[in-house]
Amino acid sequence: MALLEPQVSALPPFAQKFVSQSKQLFIDGKFVDAVSGKTFPVFNPATGDVLVHVAEGDVADVDLAVKAARRAFESGPWRSMSPSERSRLLYKLADKMEEHAEELATLESLDNGKPISVARVADVPMSIDNLRYMAGWATKITGETYTIPGDFHSYSRREPIGVVGQIIPWNFPLLMFIWKIGPALAAGCTIVMKPAEQTPLSATLMAELIAEVGFPAGVFNLIQGYGETTGARIAAHPDIDKVAFTGSTEVGKMIVKAATGNLKKVTLELGGKSPNIIFADADIDAAIAGAAGAIFFNSGQVCTAGSRLFVERSVFDRVTQGVAAAAKAMTVGAGLDQRTEIGPLVSDEQLNRVTGYIDSGISEGARALSGGVRKGDKGYFVEPTVLVDTKPDMKIMREEIFGPVVAATPFDSADDILKTANDTVYGLAAGVWTTNVSKAHTIAAGLRAGTVWVNTYNTFDPSLPFGGFRQSGWGRENGKNVLDCYTETKSVVIKL
Ligand code: NAP
Ligand code: MG
Repeated sequence: MALLEPQVSALPPFAQKFVSQSKQLFIDGKFVDAVSGKTFPVFNPATGDVLVHVAEGDVADVDLAVKAARRAFESGPWRSMSPSERSRLLYKLADKMEEHAEELATLESLDNGKPISVARVADVPMSIDNLRYMAGWATKITGETYTIPGDFHSYSRREPIGVVGQIIPWNFPLLMFIWKIGPALAAGCTIVMKPAEQTPLSATLMAELIAEVGFPAGVFNLIQGYGETTGARIAAHPDIDKVAFTGSTEVGKMIVKAATGNLKKVTLELGGKSPNIIFADADIDAAIAGAAGAIFFNSGQVCTAGSRLFVERSVFDRVTQGVAAAAKAMTVGAGLDQRTEIGPLVSDEQLNRVTGYIDSGISEGARALSGGVRKGDKGYFVEPTVLVDTKPDMKIMREEIFGPVVAATPFDSADDILKTANDTVYGLAAGVWTTNVSKAHTIAAGLRAGTVWVNTYNTFDPSLPFGGFRQSGWGRENGKNVLDCYTETKSVVIKL
C-alpha cells in the first residue's frame, strides 16, 4: 500500500484553467451568479486544499429555475418538438461529451478523488453509452390501444410528467447526472438539477455542453448548493411534478416527507449493505479478485459495494487473506496521478465517518487483516481494509460505511446464508460465486435485492433495470423501466 505524494501543483492545463474562475449556476439558458451573490468552496480530496468556489444557490435560485423549467415545459419548444428532434439533441450531447471526454475524466478525478485511469474507462464512457441508450428511447415511447365493450375507440398515451427535480450524490457525479437527465429529457420533461456540494464540477462542464448543443432555454437548469437549502426547496417545491433522488436512505426519507405538500412523484436510489457470497465450489481466484473489486472500487463509495463478505468456512481463510493481499498491493494516491489504483475519500466528513466505523468495529472485537487506519496526514486517504472476527450485530455489519472497508464472516450452509444475507434493512444488490448452476439460480431467486451478480460484480448496462428492494429505494433507473418513472399514462376513450 504505497502512498504516492500528491502532485497537485501540476494540474493539467485544462483543469488549471477550469478552476481559475469561480463557477456559476445555469438557469433559463444562461450562466448566472446566485441571487444572494454567495459562493461555497470545493475541496481537493487529495490535499484538503480549496480548488475553486461555486455559486451557492438557495430558495430564490431554485424558484427561478423552476419558473424557467415550467415555461419551457408548458409553452417552450421542448413539448412541441418531435421525439426524433429531441433524440438528435441527446445524441449530439453524447458526441460533445466524447469530444470533451478527457476534460470530463480530469474534472471527475480532481473533484471526487477517483483514479483518472478509472474515470477514463468507466465513468465517462459509461455515461456517454447511457445517454445514447436513452436518446434511442425518445422515439420509442408509445401508448396502447384497448378493446372495450360498446362503440368506443380507446387508447393510452404516455406523456412527460412535467418539471422534474433531480438531486444527485458525489460518488459518481457524472454518471448519476446522466442517469438522471437522459430518461427525463427523452421523455420530454424539463429539469432542475442539484449536484452534491462536494462534487459540482463535471455538472458545470455538462451545462456548458448542453448550452453549446442548443437545448432550448429552461429545459435544463443547474442549481449548485447545499442539500439543506437548495435540495430541500426542490423536494418541497409546489410546482415540481416529480423528484428523483440518489443518496443516503436517511435523506431519502426526508425527501419523501418534503414531497407530501403537492404529492409530487418520488423515485429514490438509496444505500445498501450488499452481501457478496462465496461458496467453496467457486473459482476461488476469480472470487478473491471479484470480492476485492466489489469493495475497493471507487474507494468503496458505491451504493452497491459488496460490503458484507460471506465465505463458506472451508475457504474462509484463503479468501480473506487473498482479499487482504489484494488490498495491500494497491497503490493509494491522488486521483490525477496515473499510477493510482485507489484514491482518497471524497471529503473530511467521509474520512471521519469511515475511520469511525473501522474504530467501532475494532473496539467491538473485529480484527483488521489489512488496513484499518487513515493513510498519511494530508488528504482523505484510508487504507483498504479487510475486517474479520465479525458478529452480526456489530455496526460495521449493519450500517452502510461507504468506504474501502469489508466485513467478512464465514458460513456453513446454503440455507443459513440466505437468511443471514437477507438480514438487513437494505436490498440493493448482492453477489454469488459458485460453479454450481442450480445453486446460483436458487440463491439468486432467494436474495431480496434489486440486482444479483453471479460470478461477477458491479456489472452494469443501460438496458438493465437498476434499483432497490426495501429501504434501498423506490422505482428503477435505466432500462425501459425508468421511462415509466418520467411519464404519466393517460387513457383516452372516444364514443364512435
Ligand atoms: P446525502 O446527504 O444523502 O447526499 C445526496 C444528495 O442529497 C446531495 O446532493 C445532498 O446535497 C442532498 N441533500 C442532503 N440533504 C438534503 C435535504 N435535506 N433535502 C434534499 N436534498 C438533500 O449523502 P451524503 O451526506 O453526501 O453521504 C452520506 C451517506 O450517504 C454516505 O456515507 C453513504 O452511506 C450514502 N450515500 C449513498 C449513495 C448512493 O448512491 N446510494 C450516494 C452517496 C451517499 P449536499 O451534498 O449538497 O448536502
Ligand atoms: Mg451531504
